[in-house]
Amino acid sequence: MSKPDAVDLIVRNGTVVTPEGRQEAAICIRKGRVSGICANSETPPARKVINARNLHVLPGLIDDHVHFRDPGMTYKEDFETGSRSAAAGGVTSIIDMPNGTDPPLLTPKHLRQKIANARGRSYVDFGFLAAVVPGNFDDIETLVAGGVLGLKVFMAETVGAIEVMDDGVMLEAFKHVAQTGRRLVVHAENDEIVQHLRKKLQSTRRQGIGAHLESRPVVSEVEAIYRAILYAETTGARLHVFHISSQEGAMLIGQGKARGLDVTGETCPHYVLLTSAHLRRMGNVTRMNPPVRGGDHPQGLWAALVEDTLDVIGTDHSPHVRQEKLQKSIWETMPGWTGVETTNALFLTEVNKGRMSLEQFVKLRSRNPARVFDLYPRKGCIQIGSDGDLTLVDMKKRGTVRGRKLHSRSTVTPFEGWKLQGIPVATIVRGNVVMRDGEVLGTPVGQFLKPVL
Ligand SMILES: [Zn+2]
Repeated sequence: MSKPDAVDLIVRNGTVVTPEGRQEAAICIRKGRVSGICANSETPPARKVINARNLHVLPGLIDDHVHFRDPGMTYKEDFETGSRSAAAGGVTSIIDMPNGTDPPLLTPKHLRQKIANARGRSYVDFGFLAAVVPGNFDDIETLVAGGVLGLKVFMAETVGAIEVMDDGVMLEAFKHVAQTGRRLVVHAENDEIVQHLRKKLQSTRRQGIGAHLESRPVVSEVEAIYRAILYAETTGARLHVFHISSQEGAMLIGQGKARGLDVTGETCPHYVLLTSAHLRRMGNVTRMNPPVRGGDHPQGLWAALVEDTLDVIGTDHSPHVRQEKLQKSIWETMPGWTGVETTNALFLTEVNKGRMSLEQFVKLRSRNPARVFDLYPRKGCIQIGSDGDLTLVDMKKRGTVRGRKLHSRSTVTPFEGWKLQGIPVATIVRGNVVMRDGEVLGTPVGQFLKPVL
């Protein structure tokens, strides 16, 4: 137990939870970093004290998959509204996607613009992925030197119109990224299957969510994940598969791990919490890419999260304005939802039901995403010297998901009306309290995150 002298902030009397277990302790933060973990009776003097009695103190929660739409699509969201939403939901760091913006993040110049744009406007710390397209292989090294946390390859068409590569070019992309040592992230669906079925279904009169589901079948995801793992194995790339929607897809990640590959996987709230009944009731609002599948998938994916087959819960926060989500035709309904603010509470509610331990939740929402994107141990843990990022949660507090109350510019959520128990009540970013009891505080303090390795 270390006991520093004067500190900036002490969070005391709470139950500190890490993947290894829990303990009653006080956390001291000095100059933005954890400077001490000590008994509540032995705390040093501090400029500010937060009494966390009856609260759980978690390492700052990380969302590894958000689209803040900035620049170019800021009528849907911008860095300020997106990061306010993150802070309100107990998220201390986000990783922003290269797509779903105009321009997409493809060049070192775009990266510099994104950093400048987010600085002074983000309430939470932020990192970026760059997209790899056939024309920017020569920029990969400079993008990595500039601090991107990973490089994203699009195997199928999705929002943002990033060019999809054929297999020869994609294998070369994997080689380039492997040489940098950074993680290669894929949107894994088979483009030819998806395009073919979409065109076929669009020529019928079908306009409901079922048609969307049929246009992006499990085989299109499984084939793409399998191919991505094979290319990663061949080239030595470290692979992370985003938004896995099928239990068969999760199994492939497990098999890759068993073979000793550095392969990790993410799934999202909609794939594990929305059932077939929800799909029928909510209809087109549940449109996502890949699609929410219902059936046995939610249960299978949940098991994969609990058993460490999958590594990360990300939200794929993809905000759209109301009319874009509330279309009669599924083909005109934009895929995605506003998730960054509600995801933690949705999962803490499941923790309260006994479906997952709080320790496992911390692993999936903090330690693992930090490790996958080379931010650990600056992020993803509570250790002396790590950033003073904490999320305080009240496991007894109740609430209800209300789209209109979100801080995001997007207010349509497939979880509208869901009852919550277990809610983040404070978000602390490097010692700065940016949210207390749902209210976002102070000025934007977010910093640009580079890999620590
Ligand atoms: Zn996404």
